Amino acid sequence: MTNANVNEDHVIIWFRDDLRTVDNTALNHAIETGLPVIALFVATPMQWHEHHVAAIQVDFIHRRLRVLKQQLAVLNIPLQVMQCNDFSESVDAIAEYCHQHRVVHVFVNKQYPLNEQLRDEKLGVLLAQSGIKQSLFDDNYVLEPETILNREGELFKVFTPYRNAWIKRFSAEPSYPVTTSKEVVLSDTTSAMLADSTDIQSLGYPVIESVLWPVDEEAILQRLDTFCVTKAQDYHQQRDFPAIDGTSCLSPFLAIGALSARQCVHQLLQHFPHALEVNKEDGAFTWLNEIIWREFYGHLLHRYPELSKNHPFQEYTQYVCWQDNPTLLKAWQEGKTGFPIVDAAMRQLRATGWMHNRLRMITASFLTKDLLCDWRAGEQWFMQHLIDGDFASNNGGWQWAASTGTDSQPYFRVFNPTLQGQRFDPKGDFIRTWVKELAKVPDKYIHTPHQWDSSGSLDYPLPIVDHKEARLLAIEAFKQAKAVM
Ligand code: FAD
Repeated sequence: MTNANVNEDHVIIWFRDDLRTVDNTALNHAIETGLPVIALFVATPMQWHEHHVAAIQVDFIHRRLRVLKQQLAVLNIPLQVMQCNDFSESVDAIAEYCHQHRVVHVFVNKQYPLNEQLRDEKLGVLLAQSGIKQSLFDDNYVLEPETILNREGELFKVFTPYRNAWIKRFSAEPSYPVTTSKEVVLSDTTSAMLADSTDIQSLGYPVIESVLWPVDEEAILQRLDTFCVTKAQDYHQQRDFPAIDGTSCLSPFLAIGALSARQCVHQLLQHFPHALEVNKEDGAFTWLNEIIWREFYGHLLHRYPELSKNHPFQEYTQYVCWQDNPTLLKAWQEGKTGFPIVDAAMRQLRATGWMHNRLRMITASFLTKDLLCDWRAGEQWFMQHLIDGDFASNNGGWQWAASTGTDSQPYFRVFNPTLQGQRFDPKGDFIRTWVKELAKVPDKYIHTPHQWDSSGSLDYPLPIVDHKEARLLAIEAFKQAKAVM
């Protein structure tokens, strides 16, 4: 069905987790067609619910869409926001929209989780039936999935050789941000859409305010630059201490695509051209190494679709007998485990949608090894609360911590939460910020507060497990799972 009022061809750029006009591959290609461009965003509340997208991330997306709408308008591209319950509805709605607006070509940047890939395939088929083209681009990672392979043509299953091959490839063929700022021709339809000043309506999802995170371009780029200028140099020494502001805090922008990984690498190399040289004592290299972890997990997700289906990477670990203990899980979720560093981290996550990387590792290890709870429960909880929730990195991080993933820590290496706290929050500065009950506990006892509180007056839970015993139980559970295979 073609809308009678639409008498010119259009192309569409469908935005998903690439909410920027700068260095956006699909957008650049849409603009290059020389036809009037319409931008679409489809909010899918039911899908978000199923995939456990955090309410704070949805608010962040909503705020970013407002900025994107203004930026696109400068290029003569109107942004239309549609609401559909789920992916299936969104495919039909986009196909219908294309018919109504005489769309000849749809441009999208790929998403790698399985459902997203299937959705795009389905749309491609539907569009092709009407003679509408669909073009998909690799955009989310600096280097395309399937381009960093070993001699056998397989994806590296261990990070370090992958990282080395990644650096070699990037050094040979650098991938830099590409931006087109060309104004697009207008049609009657796009002119009318641009004249409509209606604000973007709610995305139909519960909202937790994300205002502490800026959404305007300048502030985001400033963050990246400030990090490179003031913190990257010492990153290798500071990045593990949650009480220190030593990391970039750029992951939320990368997760929704307000910033591209190419922009990050490019900016880093502008300041530290030597960052591509492997040197663990170098801050800039260490930061690049983390960006490459992001690439690694994204590439794995692309290569192994079963990761999208709750499947552990290490086959044998599907036989680990996780404890289904809602009381322990709840204590972890609420930050009431009696282990101060774990509780502080979990309370910060619920209150702010943020958690430092070292704390993600500690809390994930605690849930899976000390409490022997299924990593998928933790993975889900993180996605429900993190402002930077990103399926590939979250899945990769959880499987690493649970020793079920590729390149995971061996199952017999179990973090000791008390020692981790003593090492990475030695004076308890971070703990005191989030566990107010411990505010008056002296530094010496901040990680073992009940040893100080001989009178038992401290309003803080006793440790819910004995770490030494729990460690042995976890190791045994993995040994038994190995024996099954
Ligand atoms: P920086 O230290 O400044 O690092 C720069 C960038 O590199 C980050 O923004 C991020 O994009 C990437 N990066 C850093 N560390 C990692 C890593 N270990 N794995 C993959 N990419 C990394 N990251 C997410 O973006 N979304 C998630 O949902 C997520 N869930 C995680 C769950 C667990 C259990 C673990 C252990 C890690 C998880 N991570 C996740 C990775 C990491 O914790 C965050 O990317 C990092 O804490 C973000 O802080 P930053 O931006 O200051 O990072």
